Amino acid sequence: MRVLVTGGAGYIGSHTVRELIKAGHRVVVLDNLSKGHEEAVSEAELVKGDVSDRTLLEDLFGRYRVEAVVHFAASSLVGESVANPAVYYHNNLTKGLVLLDVMIENGIRYLVFSSTAAVYGEPQVIPIAEDHPALPANPYGATKLAFENALPWYGRAYGLRSVSLRYFNAAGADPAGDIGEDHDPETHLIPLVLKVALNLLPSLDVFGTDYPTPDGSCIRDYIHVTDLAAAHVLALEALAVGRRSTVYNLGNGSGYSVLEVIRAAEDVTGRPITVDFAGRRPGDPAALVAGAEKIKAELGWQPRFNDLRTIIETAWQWHRKHPYGYKGVDQRPATVGE
Ligand code: UDP
Repeated sequence: MRVLVTGGAGYIGSHTVRELIKAGHRVVVLDNLSKGHEEAVSEAELVKGDVSDRTLLEDLFGRYRVEAVVHFAASSLVGESVANPAVYYHNNLTKGLVLLDVMIENGIRYLVFSSTAAVYGEPQVIPIAEDHPALPANPYGATKLAFENALPWYGRAYGLRSVSLRYFNAAGADPAGDIGEDHDPETHLIPLVLKVALNLLPSLDVFGTDYPTPDGSCIRDYIHVTDLAAAHVLALEALAVGRRSTVYNLGNGSGYSVLEVIRAAEDVTGRPITVDFAGRRPGDPAALVAGAEKIKAELGWQPRFNDLRTIIETAWQWHRKHPYGYKGVDQRPATVGE
């Protein structure tokens, strides 16, 4: 298919672009590069621009005869969303609705949407299946859910067919080692742990040791970014053969605590990770683990990297080779971590 990937220069977007191309699809990326990296898109054409630019979208849809959209372009920092919800409603909802308008006007009927486990809020049961109540605890999750909720109505009225993918904790990097995770500021656990291993940070703050978990630190379900990417390809292909619109969780179904991640990273890197035990980070649920049986049963998705150590190994390969991310050592960002 001919596919437009919005936000395709970002972490999950760029890995998905790679998997789409491997599967034989023709891809054009639209990214305003506010967070994404031009270097992450070497195999597809990159158009710099905003997903709310109607004229640009119309031009792209016509020029590339686009048949489907995979929509990543969004703001995705929980803390920032609490401090500035207007930015999140604008970027994640208003701009997304413009994209839908132009898709419908141009007869584009297939959409794969990058959603999040943050739509669930504080879990009532673990593992979390798709029918778990969706009560987001922050504007990031709320805006992703608001967009998701529009989709069935657009389906009924305008024939839009969509799959929303709710990711748990994306981690790792393409095993080829040339694309990976590069956020500024970096707030995620695994890249921060590996920056400590590389001596780019003096220590890692462990946010909370008094959670009701076996070792007191938070438990998360880490899923390899290439497995996430592969699920987007399956979702798109399912829509193309007439499967119904739906929502799927994406996770490995096993939880690891922050301390377990640190120990696994010590093993993988062979280096000690200095930690500081800090207080809880506001808004962090004690444990998040995915129930991802639905996508396995319906689309035959199977994670290939379902072992934490392997996930960390691929991340380590990327970080060791690119300690300052896509930028060279001379242009390293002033902030490494928060
Ligand atoms: N975490 C931590 N120290 C850090 C960053 C994260 O202890 O410097 C913890 C965080 O509290 C959470 C887990 O690691 O329990 C994963 O956090 P991350 O930000 O990677 O993903 P999130 O679960 O927020 O999507």
